[in-house]
Amino acid sequence: MRLVVDPVKCDGRGLCAEVLPELVSLDDWGFPMVSGEQLERELEREAGEAVRLCPRLALRLVP
Ligand code: SF4
Repeated sequence: MRLVVDPVKCDGRGLCAEVLPELVSLDDWGFPMVSGEQLERELEREAGEAVRLCPRLALRLVP
């Protein structure tokens, strides 16, 4: 699975970077940057939690 951000939906408040600092960093404007690379198995559960908590439904896990 890969974690992706929809930049149109995202409001850049950075909750995902707090929930998932291993995978998400913030740019100078507070918008999330994710690598988009294949997730290690042990991070998939945490990534799913970040997806669930995103208030704008801007995060997705894709195969
Ligand atoms: S939690 Fe969702 S809306 Fe907030 S910065 Fe992350 S992707 Fe954007």
